[in-house]
Amino acid sequence: MWQLLIADSLLRGSLSLVKRTCGKPNCRCAIKPCHEAWVLATSRQGKPRCQVVRRDDIDDVQQRVAVYKECRAGLRTLEAMHKEEKRLLRGLIDQRNMPYE
Ligand SMILES: [Zn+2]
Repeated sequence: MWQLLIADSLLRGSLSLVKRTCGKPNCRCAIKPCHEAWVLATSRQGKPRCQVVRRDDIDDVQQRVAVYKECRAGLRTLEAMHKEEKRLLRGLIDQRNMPYE
């Protein structure tokens, strides 16, 4: 979660390396796709979206995607801890409740 303090730009999505064609009819990829490309799968306004990541952007995109995932994981951990804390507090309060007799 501390990453949020230093990262000003996160990116929600998942990256995968795919093999694709280049479009040149004489290239060997015309028979079997062989050019590697990073594809970013995201969604925008609920619609799925796939984008090829430009070579120059790969490091930046990988970094931003990783930080987004770490922040989400941190949030989940925090939520789980909070839930447990609430459970313990409720138990403690109930336990110490001394009815007036
Ligand atoms: Zn090709």
